[in-house]
Amino acid sequence: MTVMQAPAYRRAEYHGFAAGGSDFVYLVSAGAIFEIDAQVQAVLDRLDGQELSHAALVRELAGEDGDLAEAEAEAEALVRELRAAQLIHLGAAPLSVPEAPPADFPLQALVLNITNQCNLACTYCYEFGADKIATPAGKPKYMTLETAKASVDLLIAEAANRPSVHITFFGGETLMNFKLLRDVVDYANGATAAAGKGITYSLTTNATLLTPEIVTFLSDNRVGVTVSMDGPPELQDKHRIYKNGKGSYAVIEPRLRTLIAHHRTRAVTARVTLTEGVTDVVRIFRHLKDDLGFHEVGFAPVTTGETRAYSIDADGMDSVLAQFNLLAQEWLEFALRGQVHGFTNVSETISELISGVNKSHPCGAGMGLMGVSPSGDLSPCHRFTDADTHVMGHVSSGIDRAKQGDFLSRGHVGAKYDCQSCWARPLCAGGCHHEAFVRYGDTGHANLHYCDWIRQWTDTCLHIYGELAVKNPGFLEHFAERKGLS
Ligand code: SF4
Ligand code: SF4
Repeated sequence: MTVMQAPAYRRAEYHGFAAGGSDFVYLVSAGAIFEIDAQVQAVLDRLDGQELSHAALVRELAGEDGDLAEAEAEAEALVRELRAAQLIHLGAAPLSVPEAPPADFPLQALVLNITNQCNLACTYCYEFGADKIATPAGKPKYMTLETAKASVDLLIAEAANRPSVHITFFGGETLMNFKLLRDVVDYANGATAAAGKGITYSLTTNATLLTPEIVTFLSDNRVGVTVSMDGPPELQDKHRIYKNGKGSYAVIEPRLRTLIAHHRTRAVTARVTLTEGVTDVVRIFRHLKDDLGFHEVGFAPVTTGETRAYSIDADGMDSVLAQFNLLAQEWLEFALRGQVHGFTNVSETISELISGVNKSHPCGAGMGLMGVSPSGDLSPCHRFTDADTHVMGHVSSGIDRAKQGDFLSRGHVGAKYDCQSCWARPLCAGGCHHEAFVRYGDTGHANLHYCDWIRQWTDTCLHIYGELAVKNPGFLEHFAERKGLS
């Protein structure tokens, strides 16, 4: 005869942390943050590596002193509350990775590579450098208006019931095809209005071709601008050079000052690529934020095979993380005073924590977002444009659902073995598909070279969230409102 065992309680998978004098748990199955009291902590500690039946757990919580019936009723209520919050569960763990969105998930954004040409020759460029995956030979160098219009039409059609869509203009150097950009904005404004949808725009540029007229256009049309640059002259000119080897800082500096002074409608952001020898994060931040006046400054280590001369070694990454932590501390101090700091890397992670994201995929690539090459080929995002291996349809014929399905099933966090036991997966989900392809030759591979770094950074941002939740919750609310998260 088989004796049936009653299911027992286990604690959920979580990452615990203390901040602002309180204890918190980051619940991995939901991407949610809970402030917990000593009683809840005691239950979680009791279930550490052990299981307890309902009766045993209630009995232990009720204790033996005082009014037993009342104590048991309180214990029952606590257990119910912990189950409802999914901090404990009966029997087998529930599904711990979010399901992929449905195959017909509506498109939200297109990144239009309006040219694959660039007037700079940055040595680390993912598009032209040693690790490039693009195969542009024989393909158009500049997008035509016909292709751009077809892109807009596809976006509107594939956006289904979304009230608003977004277009990012990208290159190459985007402003080498400014005329098209202007015409696309004109066309897309009319087409989205006719479809009853709103539209927003953004643009990434190296800033070398900015003129006062372009700045006025960008401001008038509320085009968000991200400038790719690496810092003060000696750092900018290390890799961000013209084809003749000349640095670009002297050319962009006056243009940036015009942009930042006259672009009144949207924040102007700098995005810095960190490379070997360009890891002085704090100094770069001070220059871009305080000397030049960018509203936000974000950093990302270069995407590269590990043997490239410009890839950052482990010591370099430790130094980067230490400086990130310093700026993160500053971000917190600003936030406690109700001020905005401008270090994008914290702002973005805090936004995700506030939203409670629990990602099935690391980003929207191939799902709500797609890239369009100058020829009109669709790809998962701007980093895959013009790469024959990653074509996902064409703006004239539509999305290739089979290729999209293959990309998304391989990139799903549930397909990444190492991520299954990682508490940082609600935010990371394995990391950038493009980086994975460059490193491991597979867009669906987890970016295991960054795991320690990702977990440490996520922990830092959780502490910031916790401190604010205790000491200045109003800042989190205002932050959410400003970012459109609430
Ligand atoms: S890539 Fe690494 S850090 Fe990211 S979820 Fe997977 S195991 Fe965690
Ligand atoms: S695949 Fe990488 S580069 Fe492309 S959108 Fe995702 S995170 Fe960004």
